[in-house]
Amino acid sequence: MPDAVDQGEARRFIARQAQLEAKIAEWQAAAPDIVRVDHVTSYAGLKVYGLTLSDWRAPREGKRAQYIAQPHAHEPGATAGMADVIEQLVTGHDLDGRPTSLDVDRLLSLAVITFNPIGNPQGREAAPVLWWDGSRYTNDEFWCWMRGEDPDHPGQMWERYDIWDRREVRAPEPVGIVYEQIDAHRYVEPNRSRLSSYFCLFALLDAAHGYERWLDLHQTEFVQSEDTCEVLLPLEGLTQGRIAEENLAWGRRIVARWQGAGMAARPEPRPTAYTGTQAAYLRAAWADLYQRLSHVTVEVKNNAPVATPQFQRQCQALAIEASLEMLLE
Ligand SMILES: [Zn+2]
Repeated sequence: MPDAVDQGEARRFIARQAQLEAKIAEWQAAAPDIVRVDHVTSYAGLKVYGLTLSDWRAPREGKRAQYIAQPHAHEPGATAGMADVIEQLVTGHDLDGRPTSLDVDRLLSLAVITFNPIGNPQGREAAPVLWWDGSRYTNDEFWCWMRGEDPDHPGQMWERYDIWDRREVRAPEPVGIVYEQIDAHRYVEPNRSRLSSYFCLFALLDAAHGYERWLDLHQTEFVQSEDTCEVLLPLEGLTQGRIAEENLAWGRRIVARWQGAGMAARPEPRPTAYTGTQAAYLRAAWADLYQRLSHVTVEVKNNAPVATPQFQRQCQALAIEASLEMLLE
């Protein structure tokens, strides 16, 4: 758990299921006419929440519809950033108590905004720390928590599969927290299989709200790079025309916001760089959505002293704020 000096941030860094559920109760009580709560229940029996905020008195016609989510249990800063922005939309202040820069009333009258703050609560609950700041675990150790430790290669992380079955592979013990169990035998990486709660929740809420934009929040270690945050576009070749232009313009807005806050952002958005098997997993899970929706991926540095928990939360929150401001244009 966090050191004593970090107790204040531990209260502001909302990343565990119990913290999120306490906040949801607060937000619903404070703004019952704004906050709608939906969920799917994972195989592990945990609720995977979709929080949808709008001024529901204003007509749906003409409203923009924005989806914001995070699939990876080992990337808790994404959850903390979402909680910070939801707090702003509900109370007018961020979790540090500063007044929001967002034009909240106008935003809620002109948009439907859904947050999925914890895509894989089973994995998140299995994490040994609230946040990863490099003080407890090296990257190699962190990656063994993420994907599990390879039983055939101690000290090395296990495989990255879209879906795997205990009856067919020699699985790590414990299972890596990136995976979500979906039945007695099978596990998925949430953003690589449509069988995940992360995708099931999206399908449920997309049917109700018809999203046109999806902001996906992630974290990565930026090994051998001075950057601490970047925007990734869909895999090369999956998006063309108007949507590709929108994605690029959107990504540049996020980068500009980070740079304005003095953050070491990679200056230009670039396509997701996976090739081979990982690219095939992503194409299978995302290709049809990329034809229909604007989509950008945010990456914020994880598991390093320079990436303090406050930095992780605020960097994610800035990406969300820049995205929401664009809904007003
Ligand atoms: Zn990720």
